[in-house]
Amino acid sequence: MKTSSELQAKLRSIDHRGYPAYKDLRGEYEFGGYVLSIDHVQGDPFAAPSRLSVHVPMAKAGFPKEYIGEKVKRITFQDHLTRLFAHEIRGGSFIAKGSGKSGLLAVSRCGQEVLERTACRADEKKIIVRFEAGFPANGRSVNAGELEKILFRILPDCVRKSLYFSNIDQKALASAIALCEDQQYIRDRLPQMGLCAFIADGAVLPRQSGVSDKPLQGAVPFCSPESLKVELVLPNRGKVSGMGIRKGVTLFVGGGYHGKSTVLQAIQDGVYNHIGGDGRELVITDESAVKLRAEDGRSIVNVDITPFISHLPNKKDTTHFTTEDASGSTSQAAGLMEAVESGCGLLLMDEDTSATNFMIRDRLMQEVVKSEEEPITPFIERVNGLYESRGISTILVAGSSGSYFHVADTIVQMKEYVPLDITAQAKAAADQFAVFRTAQAEFPAYSGKRCPKPDRRLLSEERIKIKTFGKDEVALAKNNVILRGLEQLKDEEQTRALGYALKALEEKQFNGMRTLVQAVDALEADLEKDGPEALFGRGEVAASLARPRRQELFACVNRYRGLAF
Ligand code: ADP
Ligand code: MG
Repeated sequence: MKTSSELQAKLRSIDHRGYPAYKDLRGEYEFGGYVLSIDHVQGDPFAAPSRLSVHVPMAKAGFPKEYIGEKVKRITFQDHLTRLFAHEIRGGSFIAKGSGKSGLLAVSRCGQEVLERTACRADEKKIIVRFEAGFPANGRSVNAGELEKILFRILPDCVRKSLYFSNIDQKALASAIALCEDQQYIRDRLPQMGLCAFIADGAVLPRQSGVSDKPLQGAVPFCSPESLKVELVLPNRGKVSGMGIRKGVTLFVGGGYHGKSTVLQAIQDGVYNHIGGDGRELVITDESAVKLRAEDGRSIVNVDITPFISHLPNKKDTTHFTTEDASGSTSQAAGLMEAVESGCGLLLMDEDTSATNFMIRDRLMQEVVKSEEEPITPFIERVNGLYESRGISTILVAGSSGSYFHVADTIVQMKEYVPLDITAQAKAAADQFAVFRTAQAEFPAYSGKRCPKPDRRLLSEERIKIKTFGKDEVALAKNNVILRGLEQLKDEEQTRALGYALKALEEKQFNGMRTLVQAVDALEADLEKDGPEALFGRGEVAASLARPRRQELFACVNRYRGLAF
């Protein structure tokens, strides 16, 4: 391996030369306590910044071995180091000057969730942190002095302050790991407690604003009604209490602006672990939960939606339903069937974002328009069967329709942000209203025999470039996949990873024989083994990615307009 002095000499020798001379710097250099690897060098000062990584031997970094043992600990450890490194590097960004992106230093920006990212990977041997640097330029020529400042002054300082156990706030790291261990502990215990979600007493659910995921100051803390209270003893925090949402059908009702949607949003985000201070640290949900909403205009390819929609007027086939432009109800029906295929155990729906005709048909409508003339079997007739025959629970927010009182196992009213268990009263009131049509018990088995064929048109591209547009859209060689309806997608790096995942599935898995489930299983096995880095195959880590959930992998594939069967 080359030494840092060799790098320094080489760097000085290319000073003032044309910018592409920087390419010669590629390689690994020993810096004493760590190895600096220059993985990819940008082509010009205005292009995407260069990609670098530092590799610190575990023996030198000195972190306790147990932090990289269990998966949840390792991921939290990696997340914490990324945050520490980000904090240090931010202070060093743009100290080195020049044109274009000269002097920029950046690593993945972590939000409220603790995600597995390519930014940091730790194992028994070493810690790798991947980041970006804008190699400084004077106009379009190399500015060696400024890059020397970055690589020999700023960076060593960032590494020293954030990646060595003796130099960091050890208590903060230990408590971050302990917290996530507690969160995972609750999630693992939900099934045996007969629960699909848990909201701890004292949790702060509302967020600062529609654009900030930080907790709202001065919010009313969550407090479970006595009848739904459960207690748990966590490995680190000890005894906690909170509302246990039981498996089956749970309904949240209440007046407008009383906090119903806020509870549901906290539950849908509870599939992820959160950092300390978030307020939702102990809001924990079955990790396969899917928030389902109407998504007019989405693409649907070959989905059996007959449990909800059959005999459409134009004789359109609903066992292999395909459309370039779904309606509210067909999009929600397909979304549900796709969620079932992905192995989802909990559906989350908010009346506000659902298609009304998918959710209910009121009595008067049933009276006037006979069911033979109505292609839709509303969700209300399926929700119990879905649980009884397939074990899939539902948590539903409904402000305006009382129909679901008949089918819900538990009914919670949000009153000025405080949950009240009104199951008994609501059921008694519902008994006064005869149900017109009773719920259907069986939920038909979903065939699950969807075997995607490779998209030849995509695969014939010379290079499949992946580009994200915020977290709501990703394009593979100009084929845009709209992911706006996926509320549980939290980070643009997850979106980018979905693009790479779709590419990997198309290139390696889809063959017309393997089912979608088998294809995603194979991809997930790689992700489980190697982290999101697996999405680059054996190639270099060419972008910052965060691991998406299985449910979003399915959802992204299903929204791809080049999907073929
Ligand atoms: P609903 O769905 O019942 O109409 P929302 O959940 O949208 O109500 O909440 C309405 C407003 O109340 C939002 O601005 C939200 O941030 C705020 N809010 C929700 N829960 C709390 C709480 N526990 N304390 C303070 N404000 C809250
Ligand atoms: Mg609402």
